Amino acid sequence: MENQPAPRPQSGAKTYEMLWDCKFCGTKKLLGKTHRFCPNCGGQQDPSWRYFPSDSEKVAVQDHIYVGADKICKACSSLNGGAAEFCGNCGAPLSGAATAGQVAGRTKAEGESFETENLQQRQQGTQVPALGIAAAATKPAQSSGGINKWLIIGVIVVALIGGAIFALTRTVKASAYVTGYKWERTINLQSLQPVHDKTNCDRMPGDAYSVSRSYEQVDTRQIPDGQTCTTNQIDQGDGTFREERSCETNYRSEPVMGYMCTYMVNRWVGASPAVARGDKTNAPYWPDTNVSTSCFTIGCKRESGRDEDYILMLKGDGDRPFECEVNYDLWQESKLERSFDVEVGTVLKNFVCSSLKPTT
Ligand SMILES: [Zn+2]
Ligand SMILES: [Zn+2]
Repeated sequence: MENQPAPRPQSGAKTYEMLWDCKFCGTKKLLGKTHRFCPNCGGQQDPSWRYFPSDSEKVAVQDHIYVGADKICKACSSLNGGAAEFCGNCGAPLSGAATAGQVAGRTKAEGESFETENLQQRQQGTQVPALGIAAAATKPAQSSGGINKWLIIGVIVVALIGGAIFALTRTVKASAYVTGYKWERTINLQSLQPVHDKTNCDRMPGDAYSVSRSYEQVDTRQIPDGQTCTTNQIDQGDGTFREERSCETNYRSEPVMGYMCTYMVNRWVGASPAVARGDKTNAPYWPDTNVSTSCFTIGCKRESGRDEDYILMLKGDGDRPFECEVNYDLWQESKLERSFDVEVGTVLKNFVCSSLKPTT
């Protein structure tokens, strides 16, 4: 009689009994909270054999006080309530006891109904995440081997990358000497040019000309448009589950109309820079730009920054040539043949200019 509980759905109640099947005698649809033991054979409930009922099978739990997932006694594997401190079966303390695993929750759109969850399918398919007694006894051996394999591969990959970085950045000291000089001075320039642009007319710059206006879509507005709700079932691990409703606001896009302006405006835009170059036969100088500070018509140019580079040409480590940018004083005072210390990469044989120092 008791092994087929009569469905008693209670509208308004939010907590319901999970169902479970007895794995000893095969009795189905026992109640997770009411039947801690199988009423048919006396076998203990295994939390990993719990599943969600269909809507018509739901049995509400009145005035349920949730005290956490069930605790599993380490000594005798009995199932105890979340608030218990000692095992009701053998009296062992329950501190540090494992808790019953929770079955993955499920979700349905509002208005749709829940079917009875297929326990067999869940047990055969993905390895049940539930930390129940049966699952805990069979799982660890396989999974720990897999984790170790990936851990070892990970360590090897990290070691290889680390070794490669170390080899590529390792350097040894070498000597070099000056064989020549280069310098380059650059003046960056901008030129005043007519630029075509389009903005919302409210934001058009004051110096715009050749303006044409058009009425069109200037933006998009999000308008709240109803809700989409779902019903969610969450296993609480104590033989019950709670049912919650969650809703999200929907939005629809609506065009915002306004006046857009297409116009011309004069703007300073990048132009080709003026460059002067040389060696040490002439003193470095700035290139001539013919820029006038009082010119504001189309085609006028202005400065937008200066740049200067001083380069020592050197030979080192088997008379291989290389170049390093240095500061002006070092460039100016370094005579031909002056010797330097410089670091050289052991693998790529590259000279590291930041390590360049006059030999003392
Ligand atoms: Zn049974
Ligand atoms: Zn016990």
